[in-house]
Amino acid sequence: MEIKTVGVVGAGQMGNGIAHVLAQAGYEVVLNDISQDSLDQAIATITRNFDRQISRGKSLESDRDEALSRIRTTLTLTDLGPSDLIIEAAAERETIKAAIFEDLLPHLGPDTILTSNTSSISITRLASRTDRPERFMGFHFMNPVPVMKLVELIRGIATDEPTYKACLAVVNKLGKTAAPAEDFPAFIVNRILMPMINEAVYTLYEGVGSVESIDTSLKLGANHPMGPLELADFIGLDTCLAIMNVLHEGLADTKYRPCPLLTKYVEAGWLGRKTNRGFYDYRGDVPVPTR
Ligand code: NAD
Repeated sequence: MEIKTVGVVGAGQMGNGIAHVLAQAGYEVVLNDISQDSLDQAIATITRNFDRQISRGKSLESDRDEALSRIRTTLTLTDLGPSDLIIEAAAERETIKAAIFEDLLPHLGPDTILTSNTSSISITRLASRTDRPERFMGFHFMNPVPVMKLVELIRGIATDEPTYKACLAVVNKLGKTAAPAEDFPAFIVNRILMPMINEAVYTLYEGVGSVESIDTSLKLGANHPMGPLELADFIGLDTCLAIMNVLHEGLADTKYRPCPLLTKYVEAGWLGRKTNRGFYDYRGDVPVPTR
């Protein structure tokens, strides 16, 4: 089946980026949130991101205006009913996501594909609570969505091939690359990335290196564009800890135990860039290591 209209649930940092790239690629988008403020901020962010692309000569004013005209915002979830595809990108809480799908179900056509942008919640479990586990899958964009080229497409145990192919066609039309993944904790990117970040925090915790020497080592010694601690601050230390807990509990292996120092930063409310302090202090002109 060909997808033409897409309903996006949640207009936060991921939802606004997802609406942006879909509208840019020609899809009709209906963007829903429970907060009018989030919807207004999402349109402002999309406009600002387009304006940046225009100033760099990567986009035209007419592209921006056409894309914005394809995005309709709504506080009413059921307005997404007629969509061919739903991408849920609301807050990372299973009860919230399950309630969204439950409320949507009576308003959907029989062929509508349901997907979630979750970073860690089981696709199979979310799908099992709907009337269409075969037409349900994980559609995992990376942050920031307009910049990052990868989308992980995660098959639940029941996901059928036409659903996978329809979602793959969307990823291709967005000009992005799909990585197919099976539904196990944290999928591919975070399964590999988070233990590396956690190990960097252990390296700091055990005094093997300072914040600066650890980040410099990975940047210059492994050719990473960002050091692991700098990256952790960018992602959010609460998010890193939550994903480590999903790996630890879901795979029942002690090699995934979160570093106590990571827990300590989160308990202090030092969550990285979003709170202005994490492994670096961002309150001055230049980031200063906090250890
Ligand atoms: P966010 O906090 O920026 O945005 C979440 C939005 O969901 C908010 O605007 C909130 O008002 C809205 N919301 C909450 N309950 C809702 C409901 N019942 N109906 C409609 N909207 C509702 O979060 P985010 O970073 O955009 O993350 C969204 C999802 O994307 C999560 O599942 C997260 O795990 C996933 N994700 C995040 C990243 C990342 O780096 N931030 C990367 C990949 C995937």
